[in-house]
Amino acid sequence: VPDQNMSRDRFPFPYQPYDIQEQFMQSLYSALDQGKVGIFESPTGTGKSLSLICGALSWLSDYEERRRQEAAALLQEGEAALSVSTAQSSTPSSSAEPDWITDFVQKKAERDLVTKLKEDELKRKKREERLEMIRNNVQLKYAMKRKVSDLAQRHFKDEIFGCSQIYYCSRTHSQLAQFVHEVQKSPFSKDISLVTLGSRQNLCINEEVRRLGSIQRINDRCMEMQKNKHEKQHHEEGVKRKRGPAKSVCPYNKALALQQMRDEVLGTVHDIEQLLKLGRETHSCPYYATRLAIPPAQLVVLPYQMVLHEATRKATGVQLKGQVLIIDEAHNLSDTLSCIHSAELTGTQLCRAHSQLSQYADRYKSRLKAKNLMYIKQILFVIEGLVRVLGGKVGQNPQIFLFLLGTEMLTINNFLFKAQIDNINLFKVLQKYFEKSMISRKVSVRMYSSINASFRHFASADQQGSVEAEKVLSASPMMQVEGFFMALTNSNTDGRVVVHRQGTLSEGSVKFLLLNPAVHFAQVLKECRAVIIAGGTMQPVSDFKQELLFSAGVGDERIAEFSCGHVIPPENILPLVLCSGPSGQELDFTFQNRDSPRMMDETGRILSNICNVVPGGVVCFFPSYEYSRQIISHWEANGALARLANKKKIFQEPKKANQVEQVLSEFSRCIQRCALDSSGLTGALLFSVVGGKMSEGINFSDDLGRCVVMVGMPYPNIKSPELQEKMSYMDKHLPHSGGRSPGQALIENLCMKAVNQSIGRAIRHRGDYSSIVLCDRRYSRPATLSKLPTWIKDRTSTYTNFGPAFAALRKVRIKSKPVLVHVGKEGASSRISNISMLKLIREAATTKISGRALA
Ligand code: SF4
Repeated sequence: VPDQNMSRDRFPFPYQPYDIQEQFMQSLYSALDQGKVGIFESPTGTGKSLSLICGALSWLSDYEERRRQEAAALLQEGEAALSVSTAQSSTPSSSAEPDWITDFVQKKAERDLVTKLKEDELKRKKREERLEMIRNNVQLKYAMKRKVSDLAQRHFKDEIFGCSQIYYCSRTHSQLAQFVHEVQKSPFSKDISLVTLGSRQNLCINEEVRRLGSIQRINDRCMEMQKNKHEKQHHEEGVKRKRGPAKSVCPYNKALALQQMRDEVLGTVHDIEQLLKLGRETHSCPYYATRLAIPPAQLVVLPYQMVLHEATRKATGVQLKGQVLIIDEAHNLSDTLSCIHSAELTGTQLCRAHSQLSQYADRYKSRLKAKNLMYIKQILFVIEGLVRVLGGKVGQNPQIFLFLLGTEMLTINNFLFKAQIDNINLFKVLQKYFEKSMISRKVSVRMYSSINASFRHFASADQQGSVEAEKVLSASPMMQVEGFFMALTNSNTDGRVVVHRQGTLSEGSVKFLLLNPAVHFAQVLKECRAVIIAGGTMQPVSDFKQELLFSAGVGDERIAEFSCGHVIPPENILPLVLCSGPSGQELDFTFQNRDSPRMMDETGRILSNICNVVPGGVVCFFPSYEYSRQIISHWEANGALARLANKKKIFQEPKKANQVEQVLSEFSRCIQRCALDSSGLTGALLFSVVGGKMSEGINFSDDLGRCVVMVGMPYPNIKSPELQEKMSYMDKHLPHSGGRSPGQALIENLCMKAVNQSIGRAIRHRGDYSSIVLCDRRYSRPATLSKLPTWIKDRTSTYTNFGPAFAALRKVRIKSKPVLVHVGKEGASSRISNISMLKLIREAATTKISGRALA
């Protein structure tokens, strides 16, 4: 039962914390102690990660200590009670009751409790001693390797005692790596057992397997090797092996080496790169070693998918019951949950899954049990139904043109009915067959083996052949089918199926859309002792609570909120809403007005004025790729672009993600060059798109972003059938507030979240300064302003005329101080070299990943 009164005055911290960091840690501490669901808001650059680490780990160590003391007191009490009752039982009882029965029951319960407490204490001590030994004494660590062989015989569970754990998850690998580096810098680095989890794609060290590239193929190949290993063990145990060439096994997957690596992982804090290095040195697989380290670790660092998706959670061995979960960078949590639980199947995948499963059934017909054969037939029947919905037929060439086109949105029940599969119990097929038989893995591994063999043959025969075979080796369609089946078992109201019929069957697709992410989040909230949802900005918190917490059954009394301002001095930021341009043209970028030449000319003039007075880098965000193309070609035609190029070198967001790094480094280099020579150019201007490749995960700190310009409001495409369905679902199921329907609020929120992400790129630390220009009179509406992060909103001024706004922008330059960069977000400030500045943005740019890529 959570203790209501626990608090702490001081927290171990690598330097004197700011006031807001102290407050953050105190609020976090009590939220964890009281088992709350905490919504924690702290702008980027305020040392949020370090506050999370020091606050949460201080609580963990206090909580463990309290548990230890309580257990010791209970043990003492139990032993005392046992000796007293033994003494009493030797004196004759005056009561007529058969006391010996009560006595016996009571004593047994006491004895059991005492034994359990003693066992727990022993396990805890053993674990701590072992970790201590690994941490402190390298020689002993190696001496232990010899002893490990005895331990290896024992089941790993023997060593686990119920240790309290904190699970920390974030969106991207770079964010996870940054968090681990912060732990390494914190005062807890020596005492904490931390494990970082990743997919096989991140952690595999077998070069032959790594080379396969795609996550699915790496998974399949690794699983195939595991299967070979078990067959080999079988063979060694005396079972006769079938004829044929020996199958390969992974040399890095050996029980003893894995256990040694697990111990080393628990003894020192490692990030993914360090895990790979350690794995290569010790010839043991980091993927499996880290999984072994999950139960005894105190802090588990992992990507969203592994903790928010129940099936992945189970497969990984993550157990949230009674533990603490911290979800960082959670501003898009609702979308992330919907995305993780949505599933899509293309016509090609359906046809391939059907053919693979039919081949499997034909081949093993005589060996399969009748019941299993029946399940396989049911799966084939469902796949045939899905293909029929797309207008095709199994067995026909999927490239043949179909005369059915268009998109249809169906409820789950209607979809099942339309596909004529409503008579199949998908729950049963999933639970009784997919899960137990692991058919998807079997089919994909089998297919992989045969395709892989022919691939090798082709590869040696001719180059063209190898390319063809390479194309065949793609993600396992049976796994996709299983995921889609799982999605269809959601309740009818919570999801929809979108049927896209294209020209051919192979291009068509069926997609499951989750409308109510709270259903999947509810389980997490129920299991965990406390959940902390943290982000730079969580606005609007009331909508967030409604959609994800209240809908998941969390009461107001379990929710704790914390929000803090920024650590930068007020004069270092100038956010302003611009309602009209230099020639008095009102700025109204609604769909009807934004294409007018007058609007585009006026925007050009605004940018030109800004570029005249702002030094260094200016980043200009457009609401969409389409509009950015249109306005830039307009400026090209009327000469505005050439005028801008006289002041700043112009860069554009690249079309391909792999070109982002190059554009960023050139942008950065240009700004550095311009700062050194005083001829002509004053810096660089970058055209980017909201929600594009440069609006998240990339920092435009210091000279890289002295002004961020937001042209118009990036509302999502309201005509999209998926968004419309989501809006009408919310209107139907969530309460209306403030005179707006939840659907309308969703549109506004999506827009403002995207704006907040983009404008938050500029101020990254205490010594940074920048101006933010919001070009559209609609930003001045109180409802819209209220959705800006508090620390920006409080300092925002609205200008109906351009003149005073321009004067304010000029003042920022006059007040600005020399570039003093705060390295690593917290702690002492120091001058940072241009090279390391470049490295910082590069790291952020190259490691961005999506939640689904980690499946
Ligand atoms: S066991 Fe580990 S190293 Fe070997 S193939 Fe699998 S993931 Fe890669």
